[in-house]
Amino acid sequence: MIKIRNLVKRFNKHTVLDGIDLDIEPGEVVAFIGPSGTGKSTFLCSLNLLEKPDSGTIQFDDTTYDLAHISKKETLRLRRNTSMVFQSFNLFKNRTVLENVEEGLRVVKKLPKAEVKEHALAELRNVGLEAYQDHYPQHLSGGQQQRVAIARALSMKPELLLLDEPTSALDPERVKEVQDTITLAAQGGNTMLLVSHEMGFVRKIASRVLFIENGKIVEQGNPEEIFSHPKTPRLRSFLSDFE
Ligand code: ATP
Ligand code: MG
Repeated sequence: MIKIRNLVKRFNKHTVLDGIDLDIEPGEVVAFIGPSGTGKSTFLCSLNLLEKPDSGTIQFDDTTYDLAHISKKETLRLRRNTSMVFQSFNLFKNRTVLENVEEGLRVVKKLPKAEVKEHALAELRNVGLEAYQDHYPQHLSGGQQQRVAIARALSMKPELLLLDEPTSALDPERVKEVQDTITLAAQGGNTMLLVSHEMGFVRKIASRVLFIENGKIVEQGNPEEIFSHPKTPRLRSFLSDFE
């Protein structure tokens, strides 16, 4: 079980996250939905310290990180456990597909050379891109690049995979292949926190959906509850924009 407690993030006087508490069961896919600018990205970034929160803790089974007071060494450990996939892929452009996936295994996990390659190839196989191992990212479609980014993130075997709008920078015809890759990762038991504006996808993949506004979780439930029986007027109004 992952426990997040009292996550607070302010930018100057603007409180973006106002004391968020969240428990995530192993294997759960928790999806965040909500209007633009409500702190969804800030929430994910705070969990792996791309943003430094003003307060908050995240607890994995036996380790608790105090996010506002954390050492460099603990920061690295936390990041290893919370790999992130971004909207914009963020692959190393001057490295091949294989080298991109090997990077973390080599530098962060410090596996022996032969194992690095073996593990990286296995991750590429899982996303169906083993044949592209020697290609450079610029020669891949956006969807393929994002699948490499997912393979790279999964290679760290993170306790929690963070995905921030992983399909929103893609051409429409490339969205499904990335969604399918994420679905496979979910079926493989990976615990995930996903931000997405693709309501159909969220409905299919999420075990729980959170609606966040003004720094708070306003409503949460399973996809059926959230999409078919939204309770708050704010959520109803938000969802009506997608109809
Ligand atoms: P979107 O759906 O558009 O991606 P979001 O829910 O991910 O939105 P965030 O990007 O987390 O929203 O931003 C939340 C709020 O924090 C916004 O009001 C934004 O302007 C503000 N914000 C984010 N990053 C910074 C920053 N580095 N400095 C100041 N304000 C920031
Ligand atoms: Mg965002």
